[in-house]
Amino acid sequence: MGYQGSASILPFLQAKTQKPRLSWERQAQKPKQHPLAPSEFELERLLFTPAPPAADAVPLVYAFPNTYAVGITSLGYQVIWSMLAGRSDVAVARLFTDLSEPLPPQPELLGFSVSWELDYVNILALLEQHGIPLQAQERSESDPLVFGGGPVLTANPEPFADFFDVILLGDGEGLIDALIQAYQAVRGGSRAQKLQALAQVPGIYVPSLYEPCYSEVTGPVEKILPRLEGIPAKIRKHTFRGNTLSVSTVVTPKAAWENIYLLEVVRSCPEMCRFCLASYLTLPFRAAEIEGHLIPAVERGLQVTNRIGLLGASVTQHPQFEQLLDYLAQDRFEQVRLSLASVRTGTVTPHLAQVLSRRGSKSITVAIESGSERLRQIINKKLTNPEILAAAAHAQAGGLQGIKFYGMVGIPAETQADLEATVALFQELKQVAPRLRFTLGCSTFVPKAHTPFQWYGVDAKAEKKVQFFQKQLRPLGIDFRPESYSWSVIQALISRGDRRVGRVLTLARQFGESLGSYRRAFKELKGQLPPLEYYVHSNWRPGDPLPWDHIEGPLTPERLLQHQQEALPA
Ligand code: SF4
Repeated sequence: MGYQGSASILPFLQAKTQKPRLSWERQAQKPKQHPLAPSEFELERLLFTPAPPAADAVPLVYAFPNTYAVGITSLGYQVIWSMLAGRSDVAVARLFTDLSEPLPPQPELLGFSVSWELDYVNILALLEQHGIPLQAQERSESDPLVFGGGPVLTANPEPFADFFDVILLGDGEGLIDALIQAYQAVRGGSRAQKLQALAQVPGIYVPSLYEPCYSEVTGPVEKILPRLEGIPAKIRKHTFRGNTLSVSTVVTPKAAWENIYLLEVVRSCPEMCRFCLASYLTLPFRAAEIEGHLIPAVERGLQVTNRIGLLGASVTQHPQFEQLLDYLAQDRFEQVRLSLASVRTGTVTPHLAQVLSRRGSKSITVAIESGSERLRQIINKKLTNPEILAAAAHAQAGGLQGIKFYGMVGIPAETQADLEATVALFQELKQVAPRLRFTLGCSTFVPKAHTPFQWYGVDAKAEKKVQFFQKQLRPLGIDFRPESYSWSVIQALISRGDRRVGRVLTLARQFGESLGSYRRAFKELKGQLPPLEYYVHSNWRPGDPLPWDHIEGPLTPERLLQHQQEALPA
């Protein structure tokens, strides 16, 4: 809910799980020298059985470009790591920015799970630290093939294309096995032979085999063509279709959410809010089977911890969510602490609030985006103000102490009257549930690839709108928490960037990681690519070629445009 950001190699999860993101500036840490075999790994309780590697196993390093605490909390990272560790034809070692397992002297494959855009800084630093050229084109036969997957790369790989030999697009289930299998078949070949073979695997993108063409040096992308005959013109994102979803494969007190056992309850979201990457990029909506999968998984998790987290873009959208809730409400789970990622506002019932409050939750998180009914219609958010007021009343009646809303400014077609409607809604909320603590986390609309709003730019007045909320809401006693506007600008640059933006990222990293560094990088590269404003603020003409046109998402650009145009008359 309310999540316009990333999805993952196992969609959306990392963005939901990557909790310790205090501020975007703090994330870009320089990797340290790692101690080997540190006690962190000894504290892990594994929920799978690793296979002993065969003598000729492929030496592979699987990295998370952030600290161990952040990486090991990512369900996507956990699951892919366990898939690799479960294969005897692979010898996998984990690498984080602050520690690692003993690494092979000459890995053949080096993988990154990328769930946050600015972690590219850590990817480049880790490559440097291990003596691997940053640009894929400069790597030699003795360098490992560098592959990446995750929500950021799946949505729009182009700004990062120069850094990776191979990019996995879509769900990790099935895809990681396809990668290893295809690699094994050409293991003895040259680097070029390996890349050409991997490019034939559905869901695998080899950027160096595609050539972007521009209308002019500083103009938009015109087309992206395969460089060689026999390389597919389009790469289709891989979609896993099964009745199981991801569950934790490791529980540890050193995770950012300590000792939590995570279950992915749903993948994607059927609501299809027009800006929402978590919904559009990961379609179709899938729900994990309750009896055969989720309940046995909870039982397994409770053997090693009493902390359970339910994940999903909108957990309560699961068609049998009530059944799962009743199961978790049993008296025998009295000691269990239960956390929910985010729920649909209309599904906050007194029963849900009671169960959460009895299971240790103090508050609930829901996304309303705006207090304006008109704006919610534009974004296709099927939610009314009476439902929002009822959710607050139910949360209070069920014994919760607070409710956190996600909101957004800069939605296309937003007016001052819409902002005032949000303030008026909070005034009403205070009356309906006076004992609740209200928080409003407020982001700026950022266009995301593969969504109907991908053609709209970031509202240059968004910062002023945030200030308006700040002025109006804080006196009402609302805990107002705006996201950094600079971060939204950089997010937009990356989410709509083409391959030339890779040069900006490389330079900005050298200048420091503030918005000023990106502006400075654009200045240095003037005449070599369009200005920052083109990527971030301008509304692109529907029908114009997009930098990610060679990547097939769940819906065609024509369908996305149709959804966008349906939004407009509203
Ligand atoms: S599509 Fe679903 S997850 Fe996305 S904002 Fe709408 S309700 Fe939330």
